[in-house]
Formats: sequence, C-alpha cells, structure tokens
Amino acid sequence: MNKQAQIGVAGLAVMGENLVLNMADKRISVAVYNRTTSKVDKFLAGRGQGKSISGHHTIEQFVATLERPRKILMMLKAGSAVDDFIRQLLPYLTEGDIIIDGGNSNYHDTIRRSAELEGKGLLFIGTGVSGGEEGALKGPSIMPGGSVTAWPAVEPIFTAISAKVGNNEPCCAWMGKDGAGHFVKMVHNGIEYGDMQLICESYQIMKELLGLKPDDMHQVFHKWSDGELSSYLIDITRDILAYKDLDGSPMIDRILDTAGQKGTGKWTVNAALDQGIPLSLISESVFARCISAQKETRTTAAAILSGPTPSFSGEKEPFINALGKALYCAKIVSYTQGYNLMRSASEEHGWNLDYAAIARIWRGGCIIRSVFLDRIAEAYHQDKTLPNLLFAPYFMDKVNSTQNDLRLVVATATSQGIPVPCLSAALSYFDSLRTARLPANLLQAQRDYFGAHTYERVDKPRGEFFHTDWTGEG
Ligand code: NAP
Repeated sequence: MNKQAQIGVAGLAVMGENLVLNMADKRISVAVYNRTTSKVDKFLAGRGQGKSISGHHTIEQFVATLERPRKILMMLKAGSAVDDFIRQLLPYLTEGDIIIDGGNSNYHDTIRRSAELEGKGLLFIGTGVSGGEEGALKGPSIMPGGSVTAWPAVEPIFTAISAKVGNNEPCCAWMGKDGAGHFVKMVHNGIEYGDMQLICESYQIMKELLGLKPDDMHQVFHKWSDGELSSYLIDITRDILAYKDLDGSPMIDRILDTAGQKGTGKWTVNAALDQGIPLSLISESVFARCISAQKETRTTAAAILSGPTPSFSGEKEPFINALGKALYCAKIVSYTQGYNLMRSASEEHGWNLDYAAIARIWRGGCIIRSVFLDRIAEAYHQDKTLPNLLFAPYFMDKVNSTQNDLRLVVATATSQGIPVPCLSAALSYFDSLRTARLPANLLQAQRDYFGAHTYERVDKPRGEFFHTDWTGEG
C-alpha cells in the first residue's frame, strides 16, 4: 500500500472495524488507531490482515500517515470521548484538515464542535451512519453535515462505502451545515423507534386478541413483507417469529418483555418539545419502552388492576387485513410528524434540508429502509415546500382510505384492554389535524381566567388580544 493513507479511522469497536473493512474493500487506504492499542494489533492480525490498512499506536504516528488534507473519522463512544479525542488530535493537525465524527453524537454537540474547530481553521463533519454492524460493513446510509468546504474531499470515500439502491444510487447525501447530519440521523432513529413499536402493537393484537401463534404471525408478516408495508423491520419480524429455540419452541416467547434504549429516541422527543412540534407517535414509542422496563410494577398491577380479558368473535382474516392497513396509515402519520420536526429545525438552524434526498438515502443500508420511502421522496420531489406530508396526493388518498381501518383497530384493541399507544397516537394526531376548531378556545379561556394570559377572538383580526374579568372581582 501507499505510505500515505487516504483516511484515518479512530475507534476500532464494531462500527469502526466494519467501516474500515468496507473502505479497504473499495480499495481505499486506511490508517487506524484505537485508544487501547492492543485492539489495533488484534485487528490487523485478524479481520484486517492483508488489506490496505496500516495500524498505529500513537496519535502522532497515525496522523503523520495521512495524505492532506487529512481526513480523520472518529468512531467513538458518543459524548466526552469525542471531545477528549479531538483535544488530543489538535496538536498534530494543520489548517484545512478534516475531523469527522461518525458516532451518534447529539446535534447540539456537533453545532458546538463545528464552531470551535472552524474557529481554529479546521473543518468538521458530523455524520450519521445508519445500519448497525452489518450496514457499516456492507454499506450504510450516511448523513453528513458540517463544514461544506470539507465535503468534496470526503464525498468520494463516503459515496464508495455507502449502500446503493436502484440504479446504483448511493445512500449518502450532504445534509447541511453544522448539526444537520446528526439531527437527521437522530430523527431517523426516532422514526425507527416508532416503526418498531407499531409493529410490536400489531403483534400484541394478533397474539392477545386473535390468539395467533408465532408461526401464524410469521405468515402474516410474510404477506406484509411483499406488499406496501415491505421494509427491513417487517422482514426481520417475519424471521424472528419463525425462529425456534433449541427445544423447538418459538424463541420470541422466551424473551423478557423489557426494552432497552440508548437515548436517541429521547433526544428526538426533546427536540420536538424544543421546536413545539407534535411528535406524539415517536414520543409514545419512547414511553412504551419506559413502561416495558417497569416489569415488576406491571406484574403487581396485572394482579390488582382490572380490565377486559381480550376476546374476538369476528372473522380473523378481514381483521388482519384491516390491521395491515391501520399499520400503514399510522406509519404515514409517524413519518409526517418526523418530517415536520426536520422542517422546523431546518428553518431554525438554516440547514435548508432536502427532504426528498433524505427519503432517498434512507432507502438502503439503514434500519428504516422500506419501499414506502420512495413515496416520500416522490412527494417532496413534486413539491419541495410541502407543508405536511398528509397534503401530498398519494398520502392524502392513503390515509383517507385507511383511517377507518385504523379506527377499527384502535377501537377494538382499546375496548379489549390491549395497549396501543402508537396506533392511537396516530389516530389522535390525524383527527386533531383535520379538526378545524379544537377545544383550545376553552383552554384559552381557562388560561385567561386564572392567569390573565389573554385570548384572541374569532370575530376580531388575529394578533388582537383580549382579557375578561371572569369573576367580576378583578
Ligand atoms: P462504542 O462502544 O460506542 O465505542 C467504543 C469505542 O470508543 C472504542 O474504540 C473505545 O476505545 C473508544 N473510546 C471510548 N472512550 C474513549 C476515549 N475517552 N478516548 C478515546 N477513545 C475512546 O462503539 P460502537 O458500537 O462501534 O459505536 C461507535 C459510534 O457509532 C457510537 O457513537 C455509536 O453510538 C455509533 N453507532 C453505533 C451503532 C451500532 O450498531 N453499534 C450504529 C450506529 C451508530 P477503547 O477500545 O480504548 O475502549
């Protein structure tokens, strides 16, 4: 290999190692470094053997190996490790060098790091990398943002290693300045939380209400994986439901019902609260994980709190068809909310996000990949300024024709005592959105009553505020 490497990768845990191997496969020369240097040696003697990869035990030597402008991709544990490592790198870098953070960093940190490093004459890219371990190795979806002048030097490498869809289209596109890439990746993860919970609620309904066994549900998901619901998450659910433990019984029944989370769902909800954007479905998916984690409390409650015992007397087949349509309708609402959040943040931060491009790069490599994203790309391609995804003709028709299925499923599940936080959040958002006059008139009156917060009147121009002395004591 050449003495000079095209890129350096710091951090040889699962993501870093797999990205390095992906690069080497594309004939990109890579220098690697890891804080625990024994991992460098182990990697080079193992999976990295015989490839265009050089390993280094010091940051100085690692940086010295890189061609200019130096490009250093950090695949480190998100948080203070990233700041620590940047501090250690700085003495060896010169103007125009490019630091890339490929971890799941919070976009607020990325905005701060961009400003700090640009102030020092360096360039910074914060990039979302989605697809987990397998995506990193075979082709992830890549969402970079930051110093736009760094992009031409990095683009060929990122394009080469990204997933490809359709006619060899790379799942990688420039998102915008400072934190845009990490923000989009964060929303991707939030949407992933929502998609997963919607599937889990559908599973629970089939299991508890219809009495289907994992093998029966495997067949349902098999059918769904061929239609408009076709997606990676539907595919893996289909496979999970067919998987047997050593004794031949369904593995799914052996798994404890407490969900973990690493925080990107929570960040998405925090961002929605900051932006004042209704993101009810993703929020409920985060809380669904929280309540699942309260296993002991739920076990106690199950014995003392009453509710209906689910029973179903109708035809199962038509109900399963309605469930598939309800799932699709709710998924449309979830993406609508996620896109609304991106639109709001993009306007606040001046990112100028390209919503069609975001849908396009999510079609391959990442966890939420699905045929459905083609429809979103098409909708934003037709109208870049679309104020709400539900106003696009395809989605409008779809939700209008499936909202009754969603109602049937939510009403049935609710009347039978089966929790459906995300399916019902979708329906409530849909109904709120199409309600021209909400009860917020009463809410404003209450606020004015106890706090003199004032209100606007329907018979006066917007922007004129009134106060009433509700008790006559004022
Ligand atoms: P990780 O477990 O998040 O991080 C481990 C790496 O960080 C190791 O190389 C470790 O070095 C290094 N590190 C930790 N603290 C450090 C410090 N203070 N200074 C220098 N290095 C430090 O690894 P990962 O799972 O491969 O993920 C890497 C990044 O990608 C994370 O931000 C993660 O959130 C993101 N991500 C992960 C996935 C996934 O599926 N795993 C998917 C998408 C994105 P040592 O070996 O010396 O401890």
